[in-house]
Amino acid sequence: MFLTDVELGEIKAFRRRLHQNPEVSGEEAQTAAFVNDQLALTRPDRIVVGIGGHGLAAVYDGEARGPTVLIRAELDGLPIRETSDFAHRSRVPGKGHLCGHDGHMAILMALATGLGQKRPAAGRAILMFQPAEENGAGAAAVLADPKFAMLTPDMSLSLHNFPGVRLGHVLLREGPVNCASRGMKIILKGKTSHASYPEHGVAPTFATARLLGELTALGNNGPLGPDYSLVTVTHARLGEPAFGISPGEAHIWATLRTLTDDAMAALVSCAEELVHAEANAGQLKVEISYEDVFRQCYNSAEAVDELKRALEDEGVSYDSASSHLPMKASEDFGLFRTVAPSAMFFLGAGEDHPQLHNPDYDFPDELIAIGSRVFMRAIRNILG
Ligand SMILES: [Zn+2]
Ligand SMILES: [Zn+2]
Repeated sequence: MFLTDVELGEIKAFRRRLHQNPEVSGEEAQTAAFVNDQLALTRPDRIVVGIGGHGLAAVYDGEARGPTVLIRAELDGLPIRETSDFAHRSRVPGKGHLCGHDGHMAILMALATGLGQKRPAAGRAILMFQPAEENGAGAAAVLADPKFAMLTPDMSLSLHNFPGVRLGHVLLREGPVNCASRGMKIILKGKTSHASYPEHGVAPTFATARLLGELTALGNNGPLGPDYSLVTVTHARLGEPAFGISPGEAHIWATLRTLTDDAMAALVSCAEELVHAEANAGQLKVEISYEDVFRQCYNSAEAVDELKRALEDEGVSYDSASSHLPMKASEDFGLFRTVAPSAMFFLGAGEDHPQLHNPDYDFPDELIAIGSRVFMRAIRNILG
């Protein structure tokens, strides 16, 4: 390990303080300020703030010219009430660091400490603290920010902790690792009327009833290959909770999920076609919008090779044929691949560890040393 036990203890304390003070997607101002203060202590060459919202990045320059390696962590917690009772539990009602992003930030802070003590020989290392991962908006906002131009990487790496897998064991594979997904919001508009005279209005009742089944039936929920698709109706509302009104409006929310971006484009057009057909048949107006849009997350071969080399050098066991990958959940890190080769590895959080987004989840501190060793080795292998 490149840090002393005392330094590692300080990083764990940093992680627990983050855990006590979670902020949700897009609202990470205090978290960013705290991270900024701690990064400054490691004396990076630059800290760029306000990237894509509350995002920030620390830059550590090498002496010689060379490539840029970017390591990404996430700033956001979740709008879920934590149920644990340990001392570092969330102090914010209804919010918790229940995806382990506090731990991912701690891993980057360990790297910051190491890079502050010993710069890369060539090129530069960038530690990117990205906002708003949980709603899929953050990576896109970071990449679209003009400030990102001065940070453009030649390779981007990231990790996510992974409950259900032995503590410290790594899952890593080339190709797709996370699904594309998006939230589809449908509003069907007709006309209300007295419940005794539904014929005087235009009710979306039949269209809604049919669409709930038809949208669900669009997905196959089959094997996770190029043809995989899943449509989950997550919410539906028809009219008002009243007995005197024939409904004039309906809302349907559905999450669309596929392995590839191409399959998503096809699924979106099928879903929209269905909605328009039902709207036409029912003489209804229709509005469709999308939220929480995640592209597929795909690991580039050259970035996977660097991670494998680092894992082997550090003696960390890994599995490149795990049935856990690709996974149905989404992750917005995939967007970084639009600027340079990128890869993400999954670090086992323990076989019986509470799952991500569970109210009793907590990031295992043991992963801070393992995760930061792997990334530091990759940085040294590439930049010296
Ligand atoms: Zn999450
Ligand atoms: Zn997460």
